[in-house]
Amino acid sequence: MQKQNLPSVRTCLLLLILSTVWLLLGAPLTPDQWRSAPLELRQSMLQLPVRMHYIFSRWYGTGLFSSAQAEAISTPILRVWNTEQRRVQLLPLEEYVQCALAAEMPAHYDPQALRCQAVTARTYALHASLLYGGNGCDTVASCDVCTNSSCCQAYADKELQQSQWGAEYSLFHKRTSDAVHATEGLILTYEGLPALPLYHACSGGLTENVQEVFSQSLPYLISVESPGEEAASTYSDHVVYTLEEACTRLRSAFPECGVEPDSLASQLRLQTATSSGRVGTVLIGSALVSGRELRAALDLRSTYITWEADNRTITFRTKGYGHGVGMSQVGAQAMAAEGYSFAEILQHYYPGTCLTRIP
Ligand SMILES: [Zn+2]
Repeated sequence: MQKQNLPSVRTCLLLLILSTVWLLLGAPLTPDQWRSAPLELRQSMLQLPVRMHYIFSRWYGTGLFSSAQAEAISTPILRVWNTEQRRVQLLPLEEYVQCALAAEMPAHYDPQALRCQAVTARTYALHASLLYGGNGCDTVASCDVCTNSSCCQAYADKELQQSQWGAEYSLFHKRTSDAVHATEGLILTYEGLPALPLYHACSGGLTENVQEVFSQSLPYLISVESPGEEAASTYSDHVVYTLEEACTRLRSAFPECGVEPDSLASQLRLQTATSSGRVGTVLIGSALVSGRELRAALDLRSTYITWEADNRTITFRTKGYGHGVGMSQVGAQAMAAEGYSFAEILQHYYPGTCLTRIP
């Protein structure tokens, strides 16, 4: 009889013992269990090849890989869906963070504000990362993140950075890279898992509770004051529509509302405000709509909306820019100018999270 190439009894016994110990320890088995496993455990799994490399180099004098390969393996790699180029890119985490920072925050901001954005961009990516237990990108499920700012985070590659910064490319590339290096490997965690670090351009003085916007409750995404924003160009805005224009927009977004130019002022009634004072729900004729829907229909900068009408026009005034949840970029810049460190600023906007280093 021909001998088959099967594992030896000793190997099978070893595997059996290892599996039993794994089960007895209560270690995760299913994808769901892995998803809720502590961050340290998942990181250990990712780091296993590199640690084996170090053990081998100590025992035998030569490792499993070259030191450059070992470093490459120890760096988390993201699967990024490039929305514009419609292709998947594999990017080392820190390289992705510099590109996201370049696209998401003005590069002339204070170094401490840039560091805040580097940490939030890195945390966002790991929160979404499939390897770290995230759910990946909503648009392309097999990728960790995409480059569409309304889905994941904005992204500027070298070419885009050169065109957006022009003659100041070297300076701004250095400023953003410095912020990434100064915070290398730092993320925000909550109960041992990467936090969801939502952020926006300007809060208008007070950030928003996450459940008022995204119907989920997270204890570190609560309304906090955001002082010092008043001087920013994004702090307040107003849009003037003729009564006819406003009615056309509202009827196209909410066909059942039945508003008329002559009576629009009395047909637009605030029903509920959120705890931060933004529009929760508003009655438009006979349609009850959310502040977010009203903002989208009228192309406004935020849901911090008030309005006044005369017999020809209606003016919508807004405070801030964006959904208002989490860190205000303008607020972070204002705190940095006051001398706060990036760690203090992040603690202000994401209370209860920990600044943790991924090994
Ligand atoms: Zn996405």
